[in-house]
Amino acid sequence: MNSTKRWAANVRKVTPYVPGEQPQEKNIIKLNTNENPYPPSPKVFEAHQKMDVGCFALYPELSAASLTAALAEYHGISDREVFVGVGSDDVLSLAFLTFFNSGKPVLFPDITYSFYPVWAEVYRIPYECPALREDFTIDPADYKEENGGVVIANPNAPTSISMAASQVEEIIQANPEVVVIIDEAYVDFGGETVLPLIQKYDNLLVVRTYSKSRSMAGMRIGYAMGNEALIQAMNDVKESINSYTMNTESIRIGAAALEDEDYFQENLKKVMATRERTKEALETMGFDVKESCTNFLFAAHESVPAKEIFEALKSQGIYVRYFNKEKIRNYLRITIGTEEQMDSFLQAVEAILHWRR
Ligand code: PMP
Repeated sequence: MNSTKRWAANVRKVTPYVPGEQPQEKNIIKLNTNENPYPPSPKVFEAHQKMDVGCFALYPELSAASLTAALAEYHGISDREVFVGVGSDDVLSLAFLTFFNSGKPVLFPDITYSFYPVWAEVYRIPYECPALREDFTIDPADYKEENGGVVIANPNAPTSISMAASQVEEIIQANPEVVVIIDEAYVDFGGETVLPLIQKYDNLLVVRTYSKSRSMAGMRIGYAMGNEALIQAMNDVKESINSYTMNTESIRIGAAALEDEDYFQENLKKVMATRERTKEALETMGFDVKESCTNFLFAAHESVPAKEIFEALKSQGIYVRYFNKEKIRNYLRITIGTEEQMDSFLQAVEAILHWRR
């Protein structure tokens, strides 16, 4: 008998999340994982250069205390209302593990960040996925029945569509017995935050990331903000798994990034301006493009299948994201790159459509 067969029955079986490709060739245009095309703030470069590599011999600060304090100050809340993790994926995963233990189904939309069902599966959390409306918006009424928790990405991904804070509040208010997680990964690009509501609702957890608006996907910094008791509960679970998740350098430069609001705002403005220009150009070429409050566009062409455009672009070294999933199979998710990258992308799309005629 094959010995691997004897333990295989006891393995936790999961279908992992599939991230966008990270091709290592040079000269590609990478518009597939919603990274920021601009570098982090000069304050980050400075802090990196001042890093004393000798300190790597020591374990990092407990609870990433200085970064937690810097984030609390930046957002005008208490240190005890902030939890920091290794990217928002780490924070979200831990929030699922911490808060969704009722045995009742957790609710999140059928079309949203595709890591949510993966965490639910790995932690054995039951879940249900109310369908988005025909126009890909979220209907708050779908999140008011009895449930084990709610997770909403706002703005949503991959649709790029934002929901009004008042509608998000309706959902939070309707669910006082469970935790409502609002994943604000893209909120800085024009969405409406519900952060002020953490003072009003003790069941609200707002999650943010440095990966998009702060150009620091490689450093893996994410955080959650919420009522002290929620944060304490997350810390207790985290401390039961791994005391030191955040590395010393991420803690230091994460704090430094917050010191440069002007650079941050400029960067956001550039991405949003490029987004609007790209949206218009795509519309002229016959694409339906959703109203985006993110650093990406969600677009379907009136006649050419998304998969064809995706593959033709890829063969030219231009990577966008295609989801082979019901309802969104005809859409491409296109990250906003630099002006030059988007010019090359638009030219390539135009040529593909022309060739197809
Ligand atoms: N939430 C959403 C909606 C996302 O699109 C992403 C990026 N894949 C994340 C969370 C996770 O980002 P990170 O772990 O880099 O903070």
